[in-house]
Amino acid sequence: MPDRSVPVRLSLGSEPPTQATAVIADWTVLERLRRAAIGLALCWSLAGVSLIIPGLHFVLPPLLLLAGPAVFVWRFVTRASFKEVKGVCPRCKVERTLGMSGKETDETNVFCDGCGNQLTLRVLAVK
Ligand SMILES: [Zn+2]
Repeated sequence: MPDRSVPVRLSLGSEPPTQATAVIADWTVLERLRRAAIGLALCWSLAGVSLIIPGLHFVLPPLLLLAGPAVFVWRFVTRASFKEVKGVCPRCKVERTLGMSGKETDETNVFCDGCGNQLTLRVLAVK
């Protein structure tokens, strides 16, 4: 499914907010299933690998085995997620493309690669 762009506002403290464009990936059922299966496989693989770590082999494998299905469900129900945001950072005033991830929400945070500040991203348009 093609990505879509939505207008967003980037803000940081007392700096004047700037307009930007966020790219959002809408996942199809097959893509969501693939992403969920990869997350599950990763958790269970790490559980297997952590068996050889002395001390932690009592804690990590059970936690990762339990986390696997939770990750599967979480990634499967995520219908859309942020990919990147293009715009001017309110602090460094430079046009940047900031990589990001996470479930699509009306408000989230993104880190500027230049100044390292955590910017507040607010979606302006309704889906
Ligand atoms: Zn910045």
